[in-house]
Amino acid sequence: MNARLASLKILAERWVERRPPDFSRKRFLEFAQAIYDYYPGFTAINWIDPQGRIQWVFPEWNTGTRHRSVFEHGNTGYTRAFEKARQTLEPTYSPCLTLFTGGLGFETFWPLVYEGRVQGYLNGVFEVGRIMDACLAKDMLEDFWVGLYEEGRLIYSSPRPIKAGHNEDRVSASCAIRLPGRTWQLILQPRPPICPPGAIWNLPFLVFGLLISMALSLLLYLLLHRMALFREATDHALFQVNERKKAEEALRENEIRLQSLVKELEGKNAELETFVYSVSHDLKTPIVTIEGFIGAFEEDFGDRLPQDGRRYLQYMSDAARKMDLLINDLLELSRIGRLSEKKAAFPLQDVVKEVVSGLTRQIGEKGITLDVQETLPFVYGERKRIAQVLENLLSNAIKYMGKDNPSPRIEVGVKREKGQEVIFVRDNGIGIEKDYFEKIFDVFQRLPPAKGLDQGTGVGLTIVKRIVEQHGGSIWLTSNPQQGTTFFFTLKDKE
Ligand code: ADP
Repeated sequence: MNARLASLKILAERWVERRPPDFSRKRFLEFAQAIYDYYPGFTAINWIDPQGRIQWVFPEWNTGTRHRSVFEHGNTGYTRAFEKARQTLEPTYSPCLTLFTGGLGFETFWPLVYEGRVQGYLNGVFEVGRIMDACLAKDMLEDFWVGLYEEGRLIYSSPRPIKAGHNEDRVSASCAIRLPGRTWQLILQPRPPICPPGAIWNLPFLVFGLLISMALSLLLYLLLHRMALFREATDHALFQVNERKKAEEALRENEIRLQSLVKELEGKNAELETFVYSVSHDLKTPIVTIEGFIGAFEEDFGDRLPQDGRRYLQYMSDAARKMDLLINDLLELSRIGRLSEKKAAFPLQDVVKEVVSGLTRQIGEKGITLDVQETLPFVYGERKRIAQVLENLLSNAIKYMGKDNPSPRIEVGVKREKGQEVIFVRDNGIGIEKDYFEKIFDVFQRLPPAKGLDQGTGVGLTIVKRIVEQHGGSIWLTSNPQQGTTFFFTLKDKE
């Protein structure tokens, strides 16, 4: 601002520099133009004649003030400043006032004296808003409220004031601008939201903002953490699913392999059974021939044979009969896998009765008490084969009753165990050692006590087990030597 005021001084000095000085309007306009361009902030530069009339104005559009007398100005501060310049011949400055051209500003009067005579007055017109616009950066006006005070009076306020006047409570900065004859107070206050009015709210807002940002950061962290955990769990689950799939595939492959093995085994079994059948069948013919010729030999030459000869013949006949029994059992065994009748439900009672009636003689001979449960259920399967099972078990019970049993007894019945019907044949005969519980079901397996008896081939229980298993059941026993044996077996209810 001081530079702008000084420029008027330079203008005054230059004017009179030339000899003789040129006080023409043209020269005034040239000077005014130069200053106006070089120092933005001037509203107008006028030339006032010694009588106080505004003669020339620059810029020239400012014609409203031309030819007006300074005394027409209603403001006493203005006229007083002019009067003072006239009397003191020193530059003077008016206080802030409403200008001829409108707007708030101040004017300066610069007397131009040449050869002791006042030639006129250079009149600089400064509108405060214009000066501030030229001095203040635009960004600053967006972020700050700028107020300019002259002796406590607001002479400039940046656009969009926060509220009328500046507020002492608010954060603000101020500085004094010294100008000839006056001091301006410049106030800067941050605009909201940098610093909203009512500084008392600043701290809570700040704390609240901090808390919110902390909470948001925490939430974000938790979210990311959750996502990481979720991803981990998904990976783990996927891994497990893959592993399970692999295991399932391996299981399926094994199953397929097992099925093919079972098929292969079934084929081999069938082959073996056919082989056993044909061998047994082929062996049967020579045995029948041997037995036949032994009979014929005995018939024709028996009476001529010595006693030893007849005994040997008897051995041969027994062996042939035994061989016949063995072959019959083997044939029977091979038939189980190959031949089967239709399965059906039938009363177990009837079958037991039939079997028992076939064994009545043996039971009577040994004085055995037979106890058959009064009510027996219906069972499902091949009637003939189930009868075969019962016959084998009952004949074994009779066979292995033991010679000196004082009260031989056989019991046939059914009990319910784990929701299933279990058929049992119990005797109080010679019993079986625990070590042989499994073995006795193998083919040709006979226990030492049985070897003394001439009946039996060691195939009976093998046939029994095979029939039971073919009916979807299982067979087991409990036994104590010298106390007796109980055989248990189950059958499938239906297919
Ligand atoms: P076997 O023709 O010799 O009777 P099995 O296969 O029927 O052949 O029986 C195998 C063996 O099991 C018999 O030789 C016998 O030693 C034994 N055994 C079977 N049933 C009984 C039983 N009720 N009591 C004692 N031992 C038995």
